[in-house]
Amino acid sequence: MVAKGDLLYVSAADAAMLEKGESGGAVSALLKYALESGTVDAVLAVKKGYDLYESRPAVITDPEEIAETAGSLHCGTLLVPKLIKKFLDGARNKKIAVTLKGCDAKAMYELAKRNQINLDNVYMIGLNCGGSISPVAARKMIEQKFGLDPDDIVKEEIDKGECTVITKDGEHKSVKIDELEEEGYGRRTNCQRCKTKIPRQCDLACGNWGVVEGKSGKVTFIEVCSEKGAELINGAAGKKAVTSEKADPKGVEVRKSIEKSMLELSDKRTSEQFAALGEGRERLEFIMAETSRCIKCYQCIENCPICYCVECSTKKPHLVTPGQLPPPFIFHLIRYTHIADSCINCGQCEELCAMDIPNALYMHSLQMEMQEMFGYEPGVNLDLPVLALVEEPAERKRLSDTGDDQIFNIFGDKE
Ligand code: FAD
Ligand code: SF4
Ligand code: SF4
Ligand code: SF4
Ligand code: SF4
Repeated sequence: MVAKGDLLYVSAADAAMLEKGESGGAVSALLKYALESGTVDAVLAVKKGYDLYESRPAVITDPEEIAETAGSLHCGTLLVPKLIKKFLDGARNKKIAVTLKGCDAKAMYELAKRNQINLDNVYMIGLNCGGSISPVAARKMIEQKFGLDPDDIVKEEIDKGECTVITKDGEHKSVKIDELEEEGYGRRTNCQRCKTKIPRQCDLACGNWGVVEGKSGKVTFIEVCSEKGAELINGAAGKKAVTSEKADPKGVEVRKSIEKSMLELSDKRTSEQFAALGEGRERLEFIMAETSRCIKCYQCIENCPICYCVECSTKKPHLVTPGQLPPPFIFHLIRYTHIADSCINCGQCEELCAMDIPNALYMHSLQMEMQEMFGYEPGVNLDLPVLALVEEPAERKRLSDTGDDQIFNIFGDKE
């Protein structure tokens, strides 16, 4: 029997699923089993859109549709937890299984600790993540750096420190990630700084690191991170949906060393990127200059997993003068003060900014300073944030009595 803590090679038993899957098709097989067995009511997965540069969230209830989501989308920069809060009622009344990268997993935790998602009803299927590439940047990179037509690419992979693309004519071309990043291509800058490469917050952490020669493409390396994850694999194995064996000890060592070198690279990139921001007043002036391009499209707020207040302070006229573009700097300061302690560096506020303002970089740099000061690291566990007014009994009662979910309501009802 599989138990929490096990390190496994798992494969889809169904040959077509194994073939379609990115590694061993285990994730797809487990999702399909979860639906067929009634373990969950629905699956929230990510599938290819118009082309491989577009990823779409998919809510699936028919097990036969799971196969459509197999495979990894490295230009899939979606963050799904806020969709669970917004469109699936925070999984309050339905059991769901969802695939999550590290940033998704951290967002799940931050929303769960604020009572916006019910983790008891969620099977968190984590995917190891070396990074994702913005669709526009990916197309530019393929054209300029690989010398290929982006529309001819049928598959992209990030493995062993290289980015590889395959054309419809079967041509393979690889370039080292380091080289790409030195020249301003490659992974999103927040991904370069990210230190959640194996999302152990999830019930299962699935990937291809540590799959030894000969098993590549035939198994998925799974770290079993919870009892719930172990039960899912045991149930699926019992119904012959997956097969599993202990991971090869050599593979376990390789995975450990890849994770270590990825984390060291993240530290290096973080230092470089934060240093380029300057210090103190210089940093503030830099941020003020960059944010002066803001057109107040609200995408940073709309897509941030920590921003979900019913009445956002940035829309209060006594705080932010309406009808003024660019908005006064207080517009950004409000977000910095409300979010900085809990920013999980998911990159959404930068990825979706209409004016390409590097919002995540500022927010992450603030968060790291707060983490140093107060010791609070967002997204790693269910500890409450520094500004958790919601935990004060009076605030809790107000939230419960009014149904409000603005947890930092320091202005009361004043308009
Ligand atoms: P499959 O059966 O093919 O199922 C894949 C599942 O992933 C599908 O359900 C699909 O909904 C979901 N999915 C696809 N793209 C996304 C996305 N962008 N966001 C959320 N869900 C998605 N593993 C490593 O060991 N090292 C890495 O560096 C690494 N980097 C990755 C980067 C990204 C952006 C992604 C999405 C995955 C990465 N993985 C990495 C995980 C790996 O590619 C496989 O997803 C994993 O091994 C599971 O394989 P499988 O055959 O069992 O999955
Ligand atoms: Fe992956 Fe981290 Fe980037 Fe999220 S922020 S896509 S987990 S590297
Ligand atoms: Fe993600 Fe930006 Fe919100 Fe931080 S501030 S959690 S990077 S959207
Ligand atoms: Fe985000 Fe603050 Fe607005 Fe709430 S009030 S949505 S935390 S900026
Ligand atoms: Fe301004 Fe960008 Fe936020 Fe839009 S997403 S409000 S342009 S900072």
